[in-house]
Amino acid sequence: MTINFRLPGPTPLPPTVLAAMQREMIHHRGPEFKAFYTDVLQMAKAVHRTDGDVFIWPASGSAGWEIAIVNLLSPGDVVLATVCGAFGDRFARVGDAFGLNVLRLDVAWGQAITAEALERELASNPAIKAVFITHNETSTGVTNPLPELAAVARRHGALTIVDAVSSVGALPLETDGWELDVVLSGSQKAWMCPPGLVIVALGQRAWRAHERSRFPRFFWDITAAKKNAAVGMTSTTPPLTMLYAYDAALRSILAEGLETVWQRHRSLGALTRDAIRRLGLDLFADPVVASNTVTAVRPPAGVAVNDILQTLKRDHQVVMQNGQAPIADDIFRIGHMGWAHEPELHEALEALELTLQTLGVPRPLSAVV
Ligand SMILES: *Cc1c(COP(=O)(O)O)cnc(C)c1O
Repeated sequence: MTINFRLPGPTPLPPTVLAAMQREMIHHRGPEFKAFYTDVLQMAKAVHRTDGDVFIWPASGSAGWEIAIVNLLSPGDVVLATVCGAFGDRFARVGDAFGLNVLRLDVAWGQAITAEALERELASNPAIKAVFITHNETSTGVTNPLPELAAVARRHGALTIVDAVSSVGALPLETDGWELDVVLSGSQKAWMCPPGLVIVALGQRAWRAHERSRFPRFFWDITAAKKNAAVGMTSTTPPLTMLYAYDAALRSILAEGLETVWQRHRSLGALTRDAIRRLGLDLFADPVVASNTVTAVRPPAGVAVNDILQTLKRDHQVVMQNGQAPIADDIFRIGHMGWAHEPELHEALEALELTLQTLGVPRPLSAVV
């Protein structure tokens, strides 16, 4: 029996992505690579819904926070970090590490950032130059209302820097339509690739901010990235195998149709939440803002998250994940992004029902199986 891998990242790989990684190396300054990489960037722009720039570096998603900061901002700049979970918190702390003047808008974990709260913060602090937003907070299973938040930031003349690590490629996201300035992501979430690529889309205002930015930078310099991308190349040796994988993933997304992919994730999110409710369990997230790429669930009273995860793995070969500090033992998370379809989700949710029975949890009348 194969493992039913339901982590919210890394996520399962489609067969075409796995196969693409068998390919031999090519010369990264030759015509074959240039044609290949030009296509990859074109497809990546289509999925980000932008006519602007998309650049790719070898790194995990976290590098995207740093790329945005060192290219668009300067030491001492006032920024507002919106925080509704572990990733928003880390984004804020990266800002601290770079000597930005980081103000925070914190809301209770499980809730979303609201446009009203953002409006209040920006209205009372006209010095705020940029707003950090986590589109989909993977640690709590919450999707923030990105178009509304971006509109508020825009009205106040602040840059919108979006962590879209667990959203782009799965949830509706319009880089140009919503006037987002930076959209950053990592290959191992909704992109259904192995970990190893950071992907960054940039709008026009990002370039104007870049001209004024005074951070030192070399590897992450977007001026160098743009100059090289214009001729189908990267500034340093590209991670070829990862790019083969990403190329296959982009082709898969575009062949299915981006809006069909968004719809599939809407269905998978609804299906998962419905099953959780019928098992008598509670979502961690406010259901109104619950994510369609990852579902965070509270265990039944008196049952340890670890016992659920171990039983799922031992008896059913289903892999789910616990929470992140400080809610590590308070929730478990079910990933349903990227290469995810109804049959595996049904199987995982049935395994969860059997696991609860094994652990002695009384069976609700409305149970799924
Ligand atoms: C996974 C994740 C990150 C961090 O990505 P790494 O690839 O682990 O560096 C950042 N933000 C969000 C929302 C994520 O889900």
